[in-house]
Amino acid sequence: MNYFKLTSIAILAMAAAVPARFASDQSAANYDPSWVLASVNGTQHYFHRANGKIMLSDDIVAYPSSTRVLSSQTQAQVAKAMTRSTQEDYDEIVDVTVQVWPSSTLTYAINNDLPSDQQAAVQSAVKRWNDSKASWNSNIAQWDGKVAYRFVPAPQGKDPMVLFVRSEDTNCSANLGKPGSASDGPAKVYIPSTGCRTGSVLHEMGHIVGLTHVHQRLDRNNFIKINKKAFDYLKEKHPSFYPNMVANYRRLSLNHGNPFSFDEQSLMMYHPYAAATADIADELVKQKLPFYTHYDGSEIVKVNTEYLTDRDMFLIKRKSMFRFWPAVNIKPR
Ligand SMILES: [Zn+2]
Repeated sequence: MNYFKLTSIAILAMAAAVPARFASDQSAANYDPSWVLASVNGTQHYFHRANGKIMLSDDIVAYPSSTRVLSSQTQAQVAKAMTRSTQEDYDEIVDVTVQVWPSSTLTYAINNDLPSDQQAAVQSAVKRWNDSKASWNSNIAQWDGKVAYRFVPAPQGKDPMVLFVRSEDTNCSANLGKPGSASDGPAKVYIPSTGCRTGSVLHEMGHIVGLTHVHQRLDRNNFIKINKKAFDYLKEKHPSFYPNMVANYRRLSLNHGNPFSFDEQSLMMYHPYAAATADIADELVKQKLPFYTHYDGSEIVKVNTEYLTDRDMFLIKRKSMFRFWPAVNIKPR
């Protein structure tokens, strides 16, 4: 009950912050015709490559230690394979194991190669994260509602756990959870030369603590309906982006699951028109072709692109609690 009241207040507060165009820095702009066939958690999938990084999803960068590349693929090969595997639906499932961080404090550093305005956006995202507090009482035992994991500057001379770095990509991206091996180096948030909005940096920090996308939830088909017409349109008019969008809508099966109800205002849910470029997003808006709708076909109005929602914070708290039971990280197959 409270939630709905608070949501409407939040919607009013955030309406002014909604960008005119569709958050292209939170969408599939990492276009690169290079793909790989790789094994993750024992199963094989096609993954898009962006400047040498293997993308688990649109803006989620796989750790090298968790991904075994089997072969390079051309986009034409992938497009053909994806067309066949997605004729019926867009429901390929990728198993993903997220490692949780062992401590509730994450040290971070910002690379000097980031321009000062982008360093400031990172600092304000860190502040917004650390100030976040759930407004709901929950049944999570002994929880004060403060967001789990505090980001604090790494002490001088010490390696940070999380590093904000400049990248050659066209959108913001980040690793998922804790690195699987020391060889991965620190977890990274990648900032393109065009910068990231504060809300986008916060979204990437969500990936760092192990959150994935709400529209890629394993049970998302109980709540939203994937709009085949939008994919068909893309396949016909923008075939070079089609495989990217299919890969971005795969479902992710996570070792920690997600017991909370579907949250369409989550910071981790994309706008239904979020597409490869702002131009394509505008085109889809004109054609009234969202990538997904409510299950009954009605439009999903996404107003929050700036703040962690209560349910985002519940899920972060739940993930942080797994650090007390490291065995939960092991997913038997
Ligand atoms: Zn993301």
